[in-house]
Amino acid sequence: MRYSHLFGKTSKNAPSDADSPNARLLEQGGFVEHVMAGVYSWLPLGLSVLRKVEQIVREEMDALGGQEIFMPSLHPKEYWDTTGRWDKVDILFKLKSQTDKMYALGCSHEEVVTPLAQKFTRSYKELPFALYQINTKFRDELRAKSGVLRGREFRMKDMYSFHTDQADLEAFYAKALEAYVRAFKRCGLDVKVVQASGGIFTDKISHEFQALTESGEDTILACETCRFGQNLEVATLKEGDACPNGDGKLVKVKGIEVGNIFDLGTKYSDAFGFDFMNEEGKHERILMGCYGIGTSRLVGAIVEAYNDDKGIVWPKAVAPFHVHLVPLKSKDEEKRKLIDAAVSAIETDLAERHIEVLVDDRDKGAGEKFADADLIGAPLRLVLSEKSLAAGGVEWKERAAAEAKSAPLEGLGAEIARWLKA
Ligand code: ATP
Ligand code: MG
Repeated sequence: MRYSHLFGKTSKNAPSDADSPNARLLEQGGFVEHVMAGVYSWLPLGLSVLRKVEQIVREEMDALGGQEIFMPSLHPKEYWDTTGRWDKVDILFKLKSQTDKMYALGCSHEEVVTPLAQKFTRSYKELPFALYQINTKFRDELRAKSGVLRGREFRMKDMYSFHTDQADLEAFYAKALEAYVRAFKRCGLDVKVVQASGGIFTDKISHEFQALTESGEDTILACETCRFGQNLEVATLKEGDACPNGDGKLVKVKGIEVGNIFDLGTKYSDAFGFDFMNEEGKHERILMGCYGIGTSRLVGAIVEAYNDDKGIVWPKAVAPFHVHLVPLKSKDEEKRKLIDAAVSAIETDLAERHIEVLVDDRDKGAGEKFADADLIGAPLRLVLSEKSLAAGGVEWKERAAAEAKSAPLEGLGAEIARWLKA
């Protein structure tokens, strides 16, 4: 991709109303555009990151045996009346049609997935199974804030599992928990697995996945050494206590909730009368679990964890581009031709290797191009200039490293491929 063709540009000034690093950097870098409180457009750079994050999540859900579906955002009121949540859930957006019919905009999808699963499930032989989707959610949050961390319209992966008995549900829940930790790790985040209350979904205990950063909204008690944590809202332990799981001590820290899993028990199957036939031919109630990851919030959490005073420092797996290639102007006609030829050769080579490169082809000085490369935050910046050619090739500067080095043009593509895999 050539920068001059890229829709959405960096801006010199931070948005005046940005209340957090992700709100500032994602907008200033041309990743998202603020529409109104809690609502964003995702531009090509931002969508590239969001898609990578969602693909990682998708792969982990598929590996768990989840089957992807896609449910509507417009829900009939009757479903929400059935569970009693029409009047109970304060963040539910409610719409009236021109014929006075009422609808809900999905804030989660238990009300749609439960009757769906019920329609296709008769006997224990069809159980267990898990359905998931990656979709837009709507929540009438009182205070939308912190950029993409708390939106009124946002992206979520939500999965629902269906079981014959508690042991089966707990076995799947434990596997899902590990898949979550893996998905966040692949996105660059080490999370704490935090005991929390079930909120609007269930009275049972649930687990939150908390990415520790200063700008987190939640206060948690987290073990210094292992992944154990408790949300302060439900804590039975206190700061300074020994971790029940190991030898670390508990400290109070701020976290961003990037995911949440719940044992729903029979809450929703009771509401819809969702039974299955057991081995003796008797009717039994289905047990359900639900598992959410806020994928757009996850993008914001990654930015909160990976930034410096110059911009974003994307982890390789979710970067919008792997390589930011910066050719610099030369007054010498011959050298200019050499630089242009080298840029084209690198672009072709990287394209064949499926390595994504953004070429800053603008007629701008080094200072401005470097500032934009740092702001956008691709993991590797390559500079082609008279100076780099004289030094034997390209200047190789990793976004996360302080120093640049020289790298030969010969074998460059293979070297980049090796580095990306490392
Ligand atoms: P919170 O406590 O932050 O309000 P929640 O517990 O209500 O979130 P869940 O219903 O568990 O959220 O939703 C699953 C995931 O969706 C959350 O773990 C979070 O990552 C994400 N999420 C929830 N609300 C928002 C929001 N308003 N904007 C962006 N992401 C959200
Ligand atoms: Mg939650």
